[in-house]
This record gives sequence, structure tokens and C-alpha cells, in this order.
Amino acid sequence: MDLIPATSAPRIPVRDRNGLALGDFPVRRIYCVGRNFADHAREMGAAVPASLAERGSPVFFMKPADAVVIDGVVPYPPGTADLHHEVELVVALGRDAPAGVLPVDAADTLVFGYGVGLDLTRRDLQAAAKAKGLPWDTGKGFDCSAPISTLLPAARIGPLDHLPISLEVNGARRQSSTLDQLIWNVPEILHELSKLYALRAGDLVFMGTPAGVAALLPGDTFHARLGDALELRGQIAPAAV
Ligand code: MN
Repeated sequence: MDLIPATSAPRIPVRDRNGLALGDFPVRRIYCVGRNFADHAREMGAAVPASLAERGSPVFFMKPADAVVIDGVVPYPPGTADLHHEVELVVALGRDAPAGVLPVDAADTLVFGYGVGLDLTRRDLQAAAKAKGLPWDTGKGFDCSAPISTLLPAARIGPLDHLPISLEVNGARRQSSTLDQLIWNVPEILHELSKLYALRAGDLVFMGTPAGVAALLPGDTFHARLGDALELRGQIAPAAV
């Protein structure tokens, strides 16, 4: 018997293009990719690879599964004076990876669907950690740091390559790009992750953000879009007192 109350996996609603509710996606883990758009790497002062052959290895970090927010209401987090938005494609895995390293050309078979989300970041804490060579956890993996749209089954979205991804804050455009600008595409990221972790059904992967990251303040509204089928609307609520 459980000696304390058990928590259940956070669940993300899955909807078809016409809005029809298809069920829920229970979340197991949240992997995130850093520096996956050259223009964002540049704005953060990081080195940008001169060619695909010089990409090296992607930067990975994680958020706890219960950082997911599905109703768009994000309380301003404690411990920061510089909360930043990062709009990102989110990949949802529907199958366990086979043992060993996942070949790039087999990676698509794991994908259940897609969403659009914000990798919310305490930029001041992340910058301090970077400067000291310390882990990013407090800057990235905090409560309510992963607001996400409903998920769309992969077969309903079509080719990802040229889909636009964008974010408006209080009605003004902050971030805008297309998915062909990713340094590492979805199969490549799943291949790289599989060298380090056993990927499972229920895992989410936040794929990295384009340039234009900036501060969010209490009361700000946000509207993220991916293609014409996925959107996330929400608001930064005042800090709890
Ligand atoms: Mn990010």
C-alpha cells in the first residue's frame, strides 16, 4: 500500500484538427533542447556551428513532468526578476524506443503527435549558473515552466519542414521562424537523445527556440502558434502572496 498519497501523471488533451477531443496524453518526462536555432544561439552569445558537419552534440536539459500547464494560466515564478519566454515545437512520443541507439530513419515511428509550448526560463538564474559552470535546473525546471497547447496527432500535421512558429505577447510579435531553421531536426534529436536515455511513450521533447526571447511580466498575455493547427493562449498571473 502507498504510505503517502500517490500523484498521477499530468495529462495533455489530444484534439483533431476540427477540435474533436480524442483523449489524453499522460506525460512521463520532459526533455528540452538548447541552442537549436542559430539566431537564438547568436543572441545568447553562444558559438554557432559554421556547417551541419560542425554541429557537435546538442545541448539537453530536463523539466519535471508536472511542470506542464494545460490551461494557460502561469503564476509568475518565485526566485526570479527576469522570466523569459521561449516558444517551441513540442514532440510527444507514443511508443517506447527499441533497445540501443535509435536510427535517424526509424525515429518518426515513435512520434505520437505535436504541440506548441513555452520553455519558460528564469533567465537571471540560468545566466548565473552558466557563468559559474553550474547546472541549469533552477533556471529551467521550475513549477509551471512548461505551458503547452493541446496535442495534434502526427498524421494530422503533415511535413514539419516549413511550418511557421511564432509568439505574440500582449498582441505584439516577439518570436517568429520556421521549422526548417532547426539545427537538429526531430529525427536527429530523437537519435541523439536515445544515446543518453531510454525514450518511452509519454515523453515530451521541447525542440528549442528561435531568436526574440524576452521578458514576461505579471498580467502579460501570450499567444503561441505552430502552423495553422496548433495554438496556445495564456497569461502570466500575478505572483502568489
Ligand atoms: Mn528552450
